[in-house]
Amino acid sequence: MKETIRSCILIHYHEIALKGKNRPLFISQLIENLRKHFITDGLKKIENLEGRIALFFHEDAKWDQIEGKCRKIFGICNYSRAFVIPSEIDQLKRALHVELGKLSFNSFRIITKRAYKNFQLNSMEVNAIIGQFVKESFKKSVDLRAPDINIWIEILKHNIFFYFEKKAGPGGLPVGTSGRVLSLISGGIDSPVAAYRMMKRGCNVDFIHFHSFPYLSRESQEKVKKIVSLLNEYQYSSRLYLVPFGDIQKIIVSLVHAKLRILIYRRMMIRIAERIAKKIGAEALVTGESLGQVSSQTLKNISVINEVSTMPVIRPLIGMDKMEIIEEAKRIGTYEISIIPDEDCCQLFVPRSPSVKARIEDIRMAEGKLRVEELVDSAIKEAEEIAV
Ligand code: ATP
Ligand code: MG
Repeated sequence: MKETIRSCILIHYHEIALKGKNRPLFISQLIENLRKHFITDGLKKIENLEGRIALFFHEDAKWDQIEGKCRKIFGICNYSRAFVIPSEIDQLKRALHVELGKLSFNSFRIITKRAYKNFQLNSMEVNAIIGQFVKESFKKSVDLRAPDINIWIEILKHNIFFYFEKKAGPGGLPVGTSGRVLSLISGGIDSPVAAYRMMKRGCNVDFIHFHSFPYLSRESQEKVKKIVSLLNEYQYSSRLYLVPFGDIQKIIVSLVHAKLRILIYRRMMIRIAERIAKKIGAEALVTGESLGQVSSQTLKNISVINEVSTMPVIRPLIGMDKMEIIEEAKRIGTYEISIIPDEDCCQLFVPRSPSVKARIEDIRMAEGKLRVEELVDSAIKEAEEIAV
């Protein structure tokens, strides 16, 4: 009888990161996310096995594409293209003989993990028996320090998985395990990285962008749509709110001293964002601010901005250097879009040297001249919601 060796993607998650009650939630969300991501890739079956997850695909599956997605699904610590056989040592030998025969190597190492403790051999014994078998069948040598190939063997109750390569996943928590946030996204380098970091910690992220069309071009909106659709590869879909901000800026310019404008813009943005966040069930706002990067991002000014929000304003990049942020933006792929020149709404009517420590009394007095609530209402009425 010809034995078939099935192949699959074997996924490991970080078990240490999973505390108590979070564990079942983490696993079921990860499985749901895997299903959503791979539904279009010929996914046949997902098996939730003790401490790992196996994904089975149709025969014509595009493995490169599947692996590319594994690098973007948060919660995956590492993944492997693995072979699966019934839990029996002779079958393991025969399957290894077939698969190792396709590889070229001189030295090897065996790393066995016995998850099913009642298997008749312990992991040291499997290492010894299989090591001997590979040595004799292929005339190769064992090298425990720097082998040409590693042979990982995982023994479960019904199946044995083996594989030769273990690749790093993105880590983090499965999107959906940490609630929903609304991310203020500008089209610059920083805010996409901030949104990415929240996805990595398990949040569903929706986006809000303030633009000055028709005073400025539509470019910033197009850029933001591109960035959001790229970031969606980490979370499938999201809502993007496009909010016209030009009229509000015009009013602020006519009534507020130049030095305070940027902070009043920001406070208006936060107020509008918070209203939308509440509407969509988001529990926090997210910005790409980093301490001291520009004058509106001093501690004093950050607290002036925070004052108008009743929900947490999360700033995942607060302690990062610009160079570190740029590196991460390059790695996740948003950098190339962010550096396309555009017309940022905040460049409109902003002085060269805004106040680095605005006084809250001055800000309140300036805002007293504005009809803040009316402005917020009308911005929300005009906001456009698009599904990306
Ligand atoms: P970024 O690179 O994200 O634009 P930045 O270093 O240019 O950040 P600021 O312009 O001070 O910093 O903006 C600080 C944060 O305010 C941004 O990271 C973003 O979260 C939010 N923000 C700024 N402009 C907008 C906008 N037009 N729409 C939505 N959010 C914005
Ligand atoms: Mg900016």
